[in-house]
Amino acid sequence: MPALKHLFLSLLALVPFTSIGQTSLKYHITVDPDNLDQLNVSVDTRALTNASVLPARTMRSSTQPKLSCINANGTRTAIDYQQAIQCSSVVWVLPLHLVDKNGFDPATQIDSRDANKGWYFVSEMNSLPRFNDLSKSEEIQSSLICIPDNTCYKLPSQSLPPLLLVWGQETTQLNINNKLVTIHSDSPLVIEHLQSWKPSLVKQLNYLNQVFPNHNLKQWQIAFFSRDKSASSVGGAAGNNLILINALLDQGKLSHDSIQMMLKIAAHESVHILNSHDMPTWAGESLAEYYALKSLQGTEFAVEDATTRWHQFATTFPYAKTGLLAADQAVNERQEYQYYPLFYLKGPAFWHEIDNALIHTDSSLETWLARLTFNDDNQFTKKWINELTKQIGKDSWKHIEKRYL
Ligand SMILES: [Zn+2]
Repeated sequence: MPALKHLFLSLLALVPFTSIGQTSLKYHITVDPDNLDQLNVSVDTRALTNASVLPARTMRSSTQPKLSCINANGTRTAIDYQQAIQCSSVVWVLPLHLVDKNGFDPATQIDSRDANKGWYFVSEMNSLPRFNDLSKSEEIQSSLICIPDNTCYKLPSQSLPPLLLVWGQETTQLNINNKLVTIHSDSPLVIEHLQSWKPSLVKQLNYLNQVFPNHNLKQWQIAFFSRDKSASSVGGAAGNNLILINALLDQGKLSHDSIQMMLKIAAHESVHILNSHDMPTWAGESLAEYYALKSLQGTEFAVEDATTRWHQFATTFPYAKTGLLAADQAVNERQEYQYYPLFYLKGPAFWHEIDNALIHTDSSLETWLARLTFNDDNQFTKKWINELTKQIGKDSWKHIEKRYL
């Protein structure tokens, strides 16, 4: 019914969001004017007649902000989570961790501030409680989070990766086939070296956007945080809309290897954002890594192919003989994370061999990705294997399966 659909879309454009049966909430995050190491969050709740506050999603600790209700007469009272509220707004405070001289570690996802460089980072985890509509006993879904740089982001549903926010850094923008990618960096070096990495990243993201077409995605963001090579931990993390990546500085310099690593991680995490297929951990991680490596081909930051990397790694890795499916089980059922590196090294080599076998038949893995299906036990479905073996031959499949799965 194209006409009806068109009518509905036109109506949507005319009617404000709140009057189509949904309450929308706006969170305002501001820097406390009297204490720069603290953020104030305020949510206008006048439209809520029968609601309560739900705890924020958590990571690493169960800490939750202490909530206050601003009443209609301006007075302030403390409120509990899950308690029915009647407030003109609900407010709380987010204390900020001060980043030290080694730089920010994205893996911690702790709300932070860099006093010297002037930027702020907030993760939804432990910081952004949600609201519950008590009349429907369900969470209010359309919440917008607005930050001091005057941008607002939708609070993702709880099944999606968390909302991560950063502001106060230098930015540059890339247009990837009409998707806007904003790059933030806390390091002037990263911006200074723009000419050396930007063309490569644009090429990589254009390629990945073709391999993983995602029409619902309009924008995503990448933030680079410089970190000294000597710092004991270095990390990356992907949120719903924002990827955090360390740019390693070696005695204050950004080397070719550092840029190469930045670009590989940026591509890997971008695949996670672009890839909308539901996949088991082993497949999602290994495909992200395989295409991250492949995206670097033809740039000055190209790396060795996935199979060569795996063979080098396998000589010293104690669990090299473990198959990908057994590793998936070990990680997901028994939290045995020592097997995780297999997803980054053995997995990409598996896809590389499948891709090569397909290329020999004038096809390629890219055209097979949309057809990928998995069973509940995280293995490929028989249907997919049957179709694939018809294309590459039974012997070829058996040979690859035996060595990798
Ligand atoms: Zn990953």
